[in-house]
Amino acid sequence: MKFTLPAALLDSLEGLDGFDRESFCRIHEHPEPATSIRLNPLKPFDVFREYGELEPIPWSRSGYYLPERPSFIFDPLWHAGAYYAQEASGMFLEQCVQQSIDLSASLRALDLCAAPGGKSTLLQSLLSEDSLLVSNEVIKSRAPILEENMSRWGGVNNLVVHNDPRDLGRMINYFDLILVDAPCSGSGLFRKDPAAVGEWSPDAVQLCCARQRRILSDIYPALKKEGLLIYSTCSYSIAENEDIADWLCDSFDLLPVRIDTRASWNITETKSRKHEAFGYRFFPDKLKGEGFYIACFKKEDGGRPERLTYKKHKWSGLPAKEEAIVRPWLREGLSVNMYVLDGEIFAFPAALEQDLAAVSANLYLKKAGVRIGKIAQGELVPNHELALSALLNKKNVVIPLKKEQALQYLRKETVTINTEHRGWAIIQYEGVNLGWIKVLGSRINNYYPKEWRILKEVKK
Ligand code: SAM
Repeated sequence: MKFTLPAALLDSLEGLDGFDRESFCRIHEHPEPATSIRLNPLKPFDVFREYGELEPIPWSRSGYYLPERPSFIFDPLWHAGAYYAQEASGMFLEQCVQQSIDLSASLRALDLCAAPGGKSTLLQSLLSEDSLLVSNEVIKSRAPILEENMSRWGGVNNLVVHNDPRDLGRMINYFDLILVDAPCSGSGLFRKDPAAVGEWSPDAVQLCCARQRRILSDIYPALKKEGLLIYSTCSYSIAENEDIADWLCDSFDLLPVRIDTRASWNITETKSRKHEAFGYRFFPDKLKGEGFYIACFKKEDGGRPERLTYKKHKWSGLPAKEEAIVRPWLREGLSVNMYVLDGEIFAFPAALEQDLAAVSANLYLKKAGVRIGKIAQGELVPNHELALSALLNKKNVVIPLKKEQALQYLRKETVTINTEHRGWAIIQYEGVNLGWIKVLGSRINNYYPKEWRILKEVKK
């Protein structure tokens, strides 16, 4: 689809480092955005056997470009959370985090604007096991997709919350790392969504700026002294990027952080007009990725953390009798505690119990760690999340399926399997868990979650 870029946007970018009006317009004339995926280190599979030779994304350790956009919905590995389909530019977050903070430490990280979860899944893969990741989404209708994607990714040290940034801002000096991947005017994604051009206007940019400043002011108190604030948008507008960086330096005790890039990556380093704060811009005429801006800041000030309230929480510890039923399902030597919430057992790192208490007392918790299942008639009915997590004991009976059958399973259809085994078993595709079945003699019950099943038909 051919479309005309707003002249007001082009004019506003004149003189900006890396902006070349002619080649920028040309690359928007016949948009062919690259498709890219990022692999889940918790779920290794032979990516090259599956998809052929792939070109790595130079600023990412686990990102690859695909030669064309497949129908992810018909790829069992996508459903299993073996990879995340993520725009390449956004994967640069990895460099920002790796170069600015000690990832071997035990950190508290917040992804404030997290849905659908692209950057949260990346943060989850980068943080140490002793760290905590809180993924927040304020828009109610978008919170479920975040929860689903975090479930697929399979990490245990994650809390999904649904709050206004102001609520999180009350957790004074709590986080070592805060990512604000802010809602923006979206010009960086015009190539992927040409219809969005019609919604763009200078007024819309101003509205976004006001919202970005409000979000940043609300969350700033939650950042610890020497903590890292990462701000990003998928807008080209200077008002939403470098000017926000200047506003941050004016308003708060923040120091810009410089990130090393290689010349061959063709990422443009910019400096804001007043404070010369470093920012990193992705122009699609210069590299294989869509429009993106990211900047990092260290907090200079900040006192001691304020005492958080620990109201009575709704979850309770798992009674010893039930713990004895559940433990054999988990890998040995795991330092996770188990809790019960509304009859559902969940596992969460033992070392982070205080954080679980603090977050659930102060925020609206949607999901904590990994759901393990429910006890019924003295037995565990395992939750789908357990199958997708790294907690599951490898001793479970595994039934590998070929693609067609795996897709049948993911449609929640009846799958014909010849097995002597009776009881619970894991369905795998290419060595990655897809979910549970229960074999009852001649009948096999498919436990794939109804709300996740594939509804679309394959195009013949
Ligand atoms: N980080 C996500 C990812 O990588 O998958 C994309 C985030 S998207 C750019 C911005 C998010 O901010 C959206 O999920 C949107 O619902 C949320 N949002 C909208 N208004 C907000 C507000 N006032 N405060 C915080 N977040 C908001």
